[in-house]
Amino acid sequence: MKHVAIVGSGPAGCYLADQLLRLVPDAQVDIVERLPVPFGLVRYGVAPDHQGTKAVSRLLDRVLARDRLRFFGHVEVGRDMRLEELRELYDAVVLATGAPRDRRLGIPGETLPGVVGSASFVGWYNGHPDCAAPPLLDVREAVVIGNGNVAIDVARVLAKTPAELAGSDLSPQVHERLLAQRIGTIHIVGRRGPADAKFTRAELAELGKLAGARPVIAEPQALSDLKALAEPQATADRQALVDPRPPGEAPASGEAAAIVELLRGFAQDARDTPVRIVFHFGAAPLAFEGRDRLESVRFARAGGEPLVLPAQLAVSCIGYQAVACCTAAPAAGVFVNEGARIEDGLYVAGWAGRGPSGTIPTNRTEAQRIAQRIAAELVDHGRGGSDALARTLAARRVRVVDHAAWRRIDAAELARAGTDRCRHKFESIEAMLEAAVAR
Ligand code: NAP
Repeated sequence: MKHVAIVGSGPAGCYLADQLLRLVPDAQVDIVERLPVPFGLVRYGVAPDHQGTKAVSRLLDRVLARDRLRFFGHVEVGRDMRLEELRELYDAVVLATGAPRDRRLGIPGETLPGVVGSASFVGWYNGHPDCAAPPLLDVREAVVIGNGNVAIDVARVLAKTPAELAGSDLSPQVHERLLAQRIGTIHIVGRRGPADAKFTRAELAELGKLAGARPVIAEPQALSDLKALAEPQATADRQALVDPRPPGEAPASGEAAAIVELLRGFAQDARDTPVRIVFHFGAAPLAFEGRDRLESVRFARAGGEPLVLPAQLAVSCIGYQAVACCTAAPAAGVFVNEGARIEDGLYVAGWAGRGPSGTIPTNRTEAQRIAQRIAAELVDHGRGGSDALARTLAARRVRVVDHAAWRRIDAAELARAGTDRCRHKFESIEAMLEAAVAR
């Protein structure tokens, strides 16, 4: 039997396990997860009101239930066992640990209360046990920095009415904290132009369909200046003018044109709503300002006056970085790899290897490629695999959450959901472990 351990049970880890089980009939694949609960970014990154996307967890759960796969939840590499020990027990180890740390802006005031990164903010509203509640205090104006889908998620969750959040898995405590703020204005600020935004169409379009909020374009002139963008033959030239990125990194021109069209539609929206979501473009963050807590965010604008937006909450949604897994350390936010291989017998998958880009299905496609490589290089060294890992953890008195125990946590979360939400997550490790006990 060949033995593979995957560290991390997010979409990258689960899809890879699935592919390996299909490709290598004589392989046992184990997933080691530091939390008692699986699915990583699907559970803690995808927005609570996007249950359609979160539904992929049912598919990933079927992977965890497969023969020749064992789930070792609540086992942290670096705490419960060393990476080197794991590598001695398995023929191959794959780091699928994601990119859980916020990129920093590196500007003054970033540590002021009221300034948070999207990893901790999104983690908080998704009930991640590591993410403390941000210090929200009478937030009337919020600033969201970045023009990606995470910025859209954050703005939408802040803007939705209780009726729109019904059926989500937002916890009652989080919902209460958000409602207590009475937010009237949410600014979404991009450092480049509208044609450079990384939003995808469906996500941006959702902001135009909210019951209690309407999108506003701070400078609609910026959109009419981009007339040529909607004409396919002129798009490439226009792209070259507005986009400083090297070729290949620019968004598909059709997508950029569609985004600009959506924004133009927003500019026509004259509804009177309690909340406004104001888009600003071409404004680079300069400083978070305030005496004891955030009072405003200052932005530089090319050739113009600085933009100063009063705010009591600022969420920077500018991307994420991988963190060390025991002795394996990332460089510049990712584990350096060559086609997923870090070194002999050690591989990386998902955001930990390629950086924080792509949607959940991107991991499925990537998993096929990585599994083929691992399958081709996998050698049976007669290692101890699952049984040896289980023995080691038992000897160390590690409280392992296996798949059946995870299912008990899952059932308990569904059972306590009530009528307003689809799931009420446990937010502490202790509560998860308590629910994991067989009764
Ligand atoms: P992203 O798409 O890479 O967007 C990051 C944004 O931050 C960009 O607008 C970027 O601007 C900006 N930024 C970076 N550094 C900055 C700085 N120093 N100052 C100001 N702005 C800065 O990342 P994301 O929104 O975190 O999303 C991560 C991935 O998850 C993406 O692939 C996204 O599509 C995916 N996702 C998908 C969904 C969904 O499908 N519903 C939801 C959430 C996330 P530049 O372009 O100028 O660098």
